Amino acid sequence: MSERTVYIALGSNLGDRRGNIENALAALAAEQVEIVQRSSLYETAPRDVLDQPWFLNMVAECRTRDFPLQLLARLLRIERELGRDRSGASIPRGPRKIDLDILLFGDAVIAMPRLIVPHPRMLERRFVLEPLAEIAPDLRHPVSRELLASALDKVRDQKIEKLAED
Ligand code: ADP
Ligand code: MG
Repeated sequence: MSERTVYIALGSNLGDRRGNIENALAALAAEQVEIVQRSSLYETAPRDVLDQPWFLNMVAECRTRDFPLQLLARLLRIERELGRDRSGASIPRGPRKIDLDILLFGDAVIAMPRLIVPHPRMLERRFVLEPLAEIAPDLRHPVSRELLASALDKVRDQKIEKLAED
């Protein structure tokens, strides 16, 4: 497959959150998923399951020759290797060491049982749209063609804070 630009959302709210995100980026880079650009880190209030620690979130622009399902399998394996608990005891949408989601895969529109792209909830999430607009302000949603930076205007009530560089 030719190289494609993909946007990956990274999130962590357990343990060394920054370290977990750095380790995930390093694991991707070590597996021929080139990290072209990374957003700032954002600290964000939990959604859905509210009684859990705040998240650190980031979006990375990557280049890969993977097919979509190959990339998904890679992300799920890296999550597991970094210690994500998917046992019966873990709460859906609850605390996790690392979450790696495919937001956009070039302009592909995918609706498979295990993979939906563009990510179905990306337009509702400031913690996705804000870092995405930071690194790719001209991107449009491949289905609605909406400028993602405009979608951001509708979710500014959600609490999120950009972390200073250190
Ligand atoms: P979430 O990220 O929604 O909190 P999980 O990380 O537990 O949930 O992912 C559950 C499943 O979501 C994965 O096993 C994967 O098959 C599926 N999935 C569907 N679309 C995507 C996508 N675009 N990126 C990542 N996972 C996806
Ligand atoms: Mg996920």
